[in-house]
Amino acid sequence: MPSSNDLFSRSFAIIGAGLAGIAAARGLVDRGAEVTLFEKSRGYGGRCASKRWENHVVDHGAQYFTMRDEAFRTAATAAGGDALLRMEAPVLDENDAPLPDSGRWFHRDGNSRLARDLAKGLTVRTETTVEDARGLLKAHGGNFDHVISTAPWPQTSRMFGVEPTFDCIPCLAVLLAYRGDWLGRTRDAYAISDRHSELAWSACENHKPGRVADGFTVIVAHMSEAFSREHLERPPAEYPALVREKVEERWKLPSVAIAASLGHRWRLARTSSPFTPPQLAPGMHFVGDALRRSRVEDAWLAGHDFAHTTSFAS
Ligand SMILES: Cc1cc2nc3c(=O)[nH]c(=O)nc-3n(C[C@H](O)[C@H](O)[C@H](O)COP(=O)(O)OP(=O)(O)OC[C@H]3O[C@@H](n4cnc5c(N)ncnc54)[C@H](O)[C@@H]3O)c2cc1C
Repeated sequence: MPSSNDLFSRSFAIIGAGLAGIAAARGLVDRGAEVTLFEKSRGYGGRCASKRWENHVVDHGAQYFTMRDEAFRTAATAAGGDALLRMEAPVLDENDAPLPDSGRWFHRDGNSRLARDLAKGLTVRTETTVEDARGLLKAHGGNFDHVISTAPWPQTSRMFGVEPTFDCIPCLAVLLAYRGDWLGRTRDAYAISDRHSELAWSACENHKPGRVADGFTVIVAHMSEAFSREHLERPPAEYPALVREKVEERWKLPSVAIAASLGHRWRLARTSSPFTPPQLAPGMHFVGDALRRSRVEDAWLAGHDFAHTTSFAS
């Protein structure tokens, strides 16, 4: 384990203000480094994403997060405090039996706020897309001793100018709002998870207090890998029509109560197994959920472990 302050005055660029990038930044700052995060979006969180939509706040990426690891639990609760809430309602399997629950947590104000809370005090340049990561290095005329990309590997490999060699699994997502509180079976369960059906995951956001406007029921649907691959290139505006009937059947929702719908394309949603990146040029690094598992907690741990255990050549 490197000693504290051993990176004093060394400069790091981190691409991506998702959970991995933020954890890596925090760890490197703790070792004395000067760190700048570059984030192409307006907000933080990456795939731990939330949206203000039709007067509701909806998590359209990560639905909840676990806090099994002590280091993550300590960091998340210190940053989020009483805004972190535990999901009380069950997640059902394909036979409507409750799945085991080791603690499913969400942020009261939208899961992307967890990232914002964890990033407090860090230097983040939002709406800044890095095209050529090598150009950030001092050796190539930039300002940084090291560049760390936390963008999914297909994007990172493009920025780094190396072969992609590794694919990510897409996910077609749909948000549906219905007029009427707690319609159909929504009081009975937070979510239904069925990995063998086209409707792989569907969840009722009403179980997250304060998120859904009074008088509505909001459902988030995530489709299976096969279904997502088949339909991904259609315009997202067409996704709700492909998905609605399946959701309404599963949750016993009255079709006539539909108030609004939205499709979202996650082209690089997750990885199927941990990935070992190829040897990268000096000063270039890759970190992210792909090194462990596609989960919020694992993304944070990947960034945290990288920052605390890597010995950086000067
Ligand atoms: C639909 C869906 C559902 C999920 N459900 C869950 C769940 O319920 N529970 C759970 O624990 N996990 C879930 N996950 C997984 C979880 O969201 C991810 O594993 C985790 O958020 C990944 O974090 P990361 O920091 O590794 O990557 P990301 O969150 O992808 O962060 C990378 C960041 O890099 C930025 N970036 C990319 N390219 C550039 C560039 N050129 N310049 C600047 N910035 C760039 C991106 O905008 C992004 O903010 C889900 C993911 C998806 C997509």
